[in-house]
This record gives sequence, C-alpha cells and structure tokens, in this order.
Amino acid sequence: MVGSMGLRMALGLGLALGLALTGAARAEPAAKDLFSAKQFPSAAAPQSIGFYSKGCLAGGMEMPKDGPTWQVMKPSRDRAYAHPALIALLQRLSVDARREANWRGLLFGDMAQPRGGPMKDGHASHQIGLDADIYLTEMPNRRLTDDERDNMPLPSVIDKRTRHIDERRWRPEMLKLLRTAAEEPEVERIFVHPGIKEKLCKTAGRDRAWLNKVRPMYGHDYHFHVRMVCQPGSPNCKPQESTGEGDGCDKLDYWFDVALQPPKPSAKPYKKPPPIFLSALPRACAAVLKQPDAAGARVAAPARATPAAAPVATAMSDDFDTGAPIALAPEPAVPARPALAAPVPPAPIPRGRLPMPRLRPNG
Ligand SMILES: [Zn+2]
Repeated sequence: MVGSMGLRMALGLGLALGLALTGAARAEPAAKDLFSAKQFPSAAAPQSIGFYSKGCLAGGMEMPKDGPTWQVMKPSRDRAYAHPALIALLQRLSVDARREANWRGLLFGDMAQPRGGPMKDGHASHQIGLDADIYLTEMPNRRLTDDERDNMPLPSVIDKRTRHIDERRWRPEMLKLLRTAAEEPEVERIFVHPGIKEKLCKTAGRDRAWLNKVRPMYGHDYHFHVRMVCQPGSPNCKPQESTGEGDGCDKLDYWFDVALQPPKPSAKPYKKPPPIFLSALPRACAAVLKQPDAAGARVAAPARATPAAAPVATAMSDDFDTGAPIALAPEPAVPARPALAAPVPPAPIPRGRLPMPRLRPNG
C-alpha cells in the first residue's frame, strides 16, 4: 500500500516537475524575437561571433542607402547592417563591377539586423554580419523611391519549368559580375541557383579557378549571396568548411536529378526547424544584446583588411536561405527595367576614398 502510494506521489511529482520545465522552456523567448527587436548596432568594437547561421554581431554598421555605385533595397526590412569590413568590401565591389562588368551599380538586399542574430523570416544565415544578398538586377540610372525599393520586381534568371537558365533574362555581364565578386580574396564563397552555376560552368571559358567559390544552393535565382571570411578581431567567428578543389561543375547532376525535383507525394512534408533560443547561441551574444546602442559616432570602414586564416574544416553545411528548400522565389511578371522617370546624370566613380558609411543617429 505504502509502496504504491509512494510511487504515485513520485509519479505526480515527476509530472508536475516535467510540466514546470516545459513551461520554463516555453517562456524563453526565441532569439529571433530578441535580435529583431534591436534597432541599433551595439556600441562596441566590430566583432562577428559564432557561425554564419548561428551567431550575432557586435559593433555593426549600416550601409548608406545610396552611393554612386549602389542602392540599398527593401528599406522596410531594415537589414542593411554588417561588419564594417563587409560594408567596405561591398562598396569596393560595386566600383569593381562597374569597371569589370560594365554594371552601373549594385542593388543590395539583406545583410544583417543591427546586432545580427536569427531573423524572424527569410534566412538561416546572415547572422554575424558577413553575408549579403545582391540582386541580379542592375541599378537603374536614377534613385529609386522607398516604395520602389520595397516593391520593384526583381526577376529570376531561372526558367521555373526547366530549372535551367532563362536565356531571355541572362546577360553575359552577370558572369563578369559574379567572377568579379568571386575573385575578391576576402569573399569566402558565393551562393547561386544551380541553374546559374551550370550557366557559368558552360560559359566561363578557360579561366575557371574562381568557379570554386561559386556554390549551388536552393533559391538564389534572382540574387546571389556573398559570404565574407571571418575578420581579424573576431576570435569567436567560426569559419566555414573549405570549398575544396576544382570548379564544382561536375557536381550539378544531383541538383537537377534529385534536389530540384518536386517532392514525391509520399515524401514527408517539410518541417520548419524549431526556433533558436539565446542559450543555443554563443554566450557572448547575450552580452551583445545588453550592450548600449551605438550613438551617432562614425565608424570608419577599414581599408582592405588582411584576410583571415584559411577556413578550417567543420561539420557545418551550407545553410539554406529560404524556409522551404524546394520552392523557387516567386517570379515577378515583368522584367525589371523601371521607367526612367527622373533621370540623374550617371554618378562618377569615386577615386580613392569611398563615402564613409554612417550610423543612424540615436533616438
Ligand atoms: Zn542570402
């Protein structure tokens, strides 16, 4: 009798304890909620903490909305923050792209949130301020309005039906643009749709070393994703595994034969991974959330920083940018050649110093 009573009490206690623990786990806010609530970078030395898809950013900087060779898109998302070294790299790339690819200017998409970290939607990576999306649409020769930046069609270069390149939308300049980015020593890798990689493989000619850094990935059919190497001053930045040898052009069959095929009806539906909690991020990220807001102080983008040590092998795989691995981005109906309502004279290419990125005034 007593034994059974004791057992029952123990069971009841265990159940209550279990419920309490579940309750506590539920009460912990998801890291994406904590980081997306931060409106300003932290006042600290620039530092990328953790891995591209599991980390945060201290001392971030905002990309100026307009430059002579770039414009920042999607202002409503407020994700144009990055490590100052990436800001400098992207600005440099915008100048190089004009020179090398005759590309008027770059249209930038998401970088990171003011303090990096997981986002509420859209990306698994972009968490440590070293990732940036660049649209495969050339900057028009006028300043876009905020509304246009948020809503302008940004067409895919992939034929949705065949999953290969859409020749009506592909331009040879795009190869030059991607090559220019890949040849930048501080670019760690570039993600593109497998159909884009295939097109590059077919048309690169004999100079192919740069193709190694261009990696096939789901999505990335109307933009490409530039990932920068870990920077000096970021001892907790975790490099990605090496891209290995070769141009990677012999590894595309799997993508077209398997990965990009529609899922079989019998396949398990895609399940979104559970949210990341702050406790799962590097411990320093809790401190980044507590750092004060960076006030109007200007942070100078460094000149060309010395490349970090060669990436070491890790078990981390390439991350996915979209929640649903198979889906292509929705295709806009019309190719983006916006009407030239208010033409401005072509901006001069700056010689020497580029305009310094500014931080938002505090308050
Ligand atoms: Zn991206």
